[in-house]
Amino acid sequence: MRRGTLLAYSLPLHAGVVLRGQHQRQRNGLVVRLEEDHRTGEGEIAPLPGFSRETLPQAAEAALLLMRRWVAGASILADLSGGEDIAQRIAPSVAFGLSCALAELEDCLPPQAPSIAVPLCSGDSDEFIRRLTALPDSRLAKVKVGLTDGGAESRQVNGMLAALPGLHLRLDANRSWTAAAAAAFAAGLDPSLRGRIDFIEEPCATPAASLAFARDSGIPIAWDETVREGDFSLRPQPGVAAIIIKPTLTGSLRRCERLIHQARQAGLTAVISSSIESSLGLTQLARLSQVLTPGVPPGLDTLSLLGAQLLRRWPGSLLPLQSPALLHTIARAS
Ligand SMILES: [Mg+2]
Repeated sequence: MRRGTLLAYSLPLHAGVVLRGQHQRQRNGLVVRLEEDHRTGEGEIAPLPGFSRETLPQAAEAALLLMRRWVAGASILADLSGGEDIAQRIAPSVAFGLSCALAELEDCLPPQAPSIAVPLCSGDSDEFIRRLTALPDSRLAKVKVGLTDGGAESRQVNGMLAALPGLHLRLDANRSWTAAAAAAFAAGLDPSLRGRIDFIEEPCATPAASLAFARDSGIPIAWDETVREGDFSLRPQPGVAAIIIKPTLTGSLRRCERLIHQARQAGLTAVISSSIESSLGLTQLARLSQVLTPGVPPGLDTLSLLGAQLLRRWPGSLLPLQSPALLHTIARAS
């Protein structure tokens, strides 16, 4: 006997969260719950405004259809994983959430992972240094750059690396540097410290400009936005060290696994990363990274952007758990 429930959630976002130029006050998404023979699996379906192509209503409609087919006895795994044709694929957030629910139901995910997210700095670097210093293990952190000018940011990065001698950094410019700003950043780095920058995600506006930056500066880069562009293919490229995989924007677990496998074959590190999911999705991403990218800390330090946790607790987080009564039932099927 199978049963399915589709629920909607809404969590407060801290003031100042801007996605692609739009202020966002709430994070809205869905929880799909699948039950069979006293086993339960849950998954989060949360298209990210400004990044996902599908809207929340479109995702809800697709999820409902698939959930009903599953409840009627169909196997939907093949549909979720889809072919290479983007137009025929199930929307990524829907495929990710449903495949997580199925994986939990089938007991294919390891139990709760230790919190191994890489700490993220997108503001005050002095405060961030204090936060890192207080952690038992501060070997790796991520810093958003491209927010002011390249020269000032290189001084900030020099300061962090000098203050914490064991620290390595992943930087993320979100394509916001001009070639000149990127060059100013590279020129301002202390040569004795720059070896501890593992990579910079998407330094410049175009992949070609980012590749030129990697070549000229000798600093490795990583693809994030580029991975989700239609003409992207995974192959070794000089200066490219890693790819960032955001399952909510990528698709089913099987699809993510395939991409990670291809990345390894191309000699690249694959890093699993979040798209501002709730604590439900984040804990599943942490569990997923244990299986799919062991030894590569995932980029999941986004829970602090939210005002509450959802259904499951992130280890060590003091944020309150939102009352389950605030989850709104969209549909049940049995
Ligand atoms: Mg990025």
